[in-house]
This record gives sequence, structure tokens and C-alpha cells, in this order.
Amino acid sequence: MTQISEGVYFIKGQDEFIPDSHTYVVGKPTSKDLALVDPGLMGKAGYKIQAILDMGIELTAIKRIIMTHTHLDHIGCLAEVRKEIPWAELWVHAIEAAPLEEGDERIVYGMEMFKNMCQMQYNLKPGAFTFQVDRKLEEGENLDLGGTSWEVIYIPGHSPGSVGLYDRSEKILIPGDVVYADYAIGRFDLHGANGSELKNSLLQLGELEVNTLLPGHNRIVQNLPPGYITDTARQWAPHLA
Ligand SMILES: [Zn+2]
Ligand SMILES: [Zn+2]
Repeated sequence: MTQISEGVYFIKGQDEFIPDSHTYVVGKPTSKDLALVDPGLMGKAGYKIQAILDMGIELTAIKRIIMTHTHLDHIGCLAEVRKEIPWAELWVHAIEAAPLEEGDERIVYGMEMFKNMCQMQYNLKPGAFTFQVDRKLEEGENLDLGGTSWEVIYIPGHSPGSVGLYDRSEKILIPGDVVYADYAIGRFDLHGANGSELKNSLLQLGELEVNTLLPGHNRIVQNLPPGYITDTARQWAPHLA
């Protein structure tokens, strides 16, 4: 686990033939009121929980799990993580909370072919990703997470209920899979995805002052160049009509 700032910690995903999302721990450890953002792929709870313990953080300090979105590579080990921290609430944007509660797994798997492959590979039963959501996030909400302050930014396009978490004072953005380092963006061909919504979301993120970009995969970036997200949106715009 790497400390990004006082109150933001990074646990790198361990990709297999399916990627494993990065996990972030948010909040000042002394507050004992922390959030875990995006657990990751199936089978990945063990080393991530260990990384948290190795930091000297007690698991009782983790009070909630926030999903940037509910794709398999982010939610795959949610059940494993919840076995370790059953008291933790689950916070998801309202648009992805509803299917999650109903056991509609089309967003989780993204496409039928991928669902069949993963269910076989990981021995996943239909309905494995049915969860009650404790808090349904909405655009513009402010979240106080263990002495750090985050705005919920609704950024659909990669998935219908994607959210970013933005710390305006520290200029830190956790954008899920909407935008990555190196001018890459999230795919927009999965169930509920939409290219023109993704373009608008990128332009919206471009308005924010961001120094530290903490995406769901690949490199994290500190000292992000000014205008980086807007430049990324412009480069991709012709493909996102
Ligand atoms: Zn995704
Ligand atoms: Zn992902």
C-alpha cells in the first residue's frame, strides 16, 4: 500500500487474464472512519486486506465500501471483503444500485459472452452479485470520509452509474474507469455504456483542477499536467459521437 496523501492510500491491482481494479483507502487512519473504494476482482480480497493490516490500520476502522461502478473487475471480491468487514456499508450510485439489488447482472458482466466465460472460469452462480445498497449516491453530494472531504461527480458513459470522487482542496480525483493515465479512457461498448455520455463526462472532469489522478487501472499520476483531461476528451471526441 502506498500513501498518496494524508488520508489517501493506494493498493495496486494484480491483473490476471482479467484485470483487477486498484483499491483506494480513503480517510485519515486516526479517524477510524475510513472508506474502501473498489474492492477488485474475484480472489483479490486477501492481499488487499493484508495490505491494509500491514499499514497498521485496524479493519474495524473501515466503515464503508464505495464503488465507482459495479463492473466485475471492481466488484468481483466484494463478497470476500465483506466477510472480513461485515459491518461496512455499501455505497453505489443510485443508477447501478437498483440492478445490484435486483440481481440484474448485465452491468456487472458487461456482455453475455464475458458472463458465460467468467461464470465458468470462476464458478460463479447466477445472482452471485446481488447486494443491498446502504447509500445511493447522487451527483453533487459531499462525503466526509474520515476527516477528508469528497464531492460525488456523476460521470456516466463507461457504465451508466459511474461516479468519480473529487477532493477539491487536495486536487485529487478518483475517476474509476472513465479516464486513465497516458490519454486512455474507459471502454464504451459494454451494457449501459454510451460514447456521447462518456464524452460529456470527460469534458465535465476537464473543468476540475486535478493534480493527482487515481484511476481504476494502470499508472496513477501525481503532478498531472494542467488541461490533461480536457486534452484527453478532445483526442477521443471524434470516436465518442
Ligand atoms: Zn469498468
Ligand atoms: Zn475496471
